[in-house]
This record gives sequence, structure tokens and C-alpha cells, in this order.
Amino acid sequence: MPMENSCVFCEIARGEIPAKKLYEDDDVIAIEDVAPQAPVHALIMPKAHVAGLNQLDALSDATLAKLIRVAGKLAQERGVKERGYRIVSNCGQDACQSVPHLHIHLLGGRAMGADLA
Ligand code: AMP
Repeated sequence: MPMENSCVFCEIARGEIPAKKLYEDDDVIAIEDVAPQAPVHALIMPKAHVAGLNQLDALSDATLAKLIRVAGKLAQERGVKERGYRIVSNCGQDACQSVPHLHIHLLGGRAMGADLA
């Protein structure tokens, strides 16, 4: 599976740096965000290095779908399924993507504003 030595999320996927893992299978890993912006803030990502939403051709449809399914599963496990939650994936400079490895933020546990940005 394609990975990058200097990518922090690849290092987490390889178990080289610690993270609080919430889910893992052969293709996908989910972790707690190290700087949570809501009571529930998880990151769901493919293990393979895909830089972001502009590189989805490098990801199988099955893995892409699994990212969303895992987000929903974690929303249920973390108790925000009924009250609601938000999933976000930042892409590029204007969106302030800070880690160039595709990931979906799962945010919940508090009321969020109606404005998305
Ligand atoms: P983004 O700015 O959308 O690329 O999101 C990157 C997210 O990764 C931020 O919310 C960071 O807090 C989070 N993050 C960065 N490094 C780590 C790490 N080592 N473990 C967990 N979360 C991290």
C-alpha cells in the first residue's frame, strides 16, 4: 500500500507514532484528533497515502465509502447519532488543510453554528 515516510498520518497508520485509535481495519483507521474542536472530534482516514480530495482517483470506491460508514459508526458509538454531528474534509490552502493525507473530521457533542464557514 502506498505510504509516505514523512507523513504524520502514514506514521500513525504504521504504528510509528502514538494515537488513540477508535477504529482500524486493513484499509481505514480512525483516531482521536490531538487538538479536539468539539467534545467528539475523530479523524477517519485511509491507511494508504492519498493527499486529499483532489486525489480520490487513487482510492477505491469501496474504501471511500468505508470512510463515511466508519464516521457514522463512530457517531453512534460516541453517542452523537441522534443529536447530530458534522463531517468535514478540508482540501487545500483556502480550506486550511494542514495534513496532506486525506481525512474526514467527525465533529459532535455540542451545538454548532448554522454557518459552515
Ligand atoms: P486539517 O487541518 O483539516 O488537515 O486537519 C488536520 C487535523 O489533524 C487537525 O485537526 C489536527 O489537530 C490533527 N492532527 C495533527 N497531528 C495529529 C496527530 N499526531 N494525532 C492526531 N491528530 C492530529
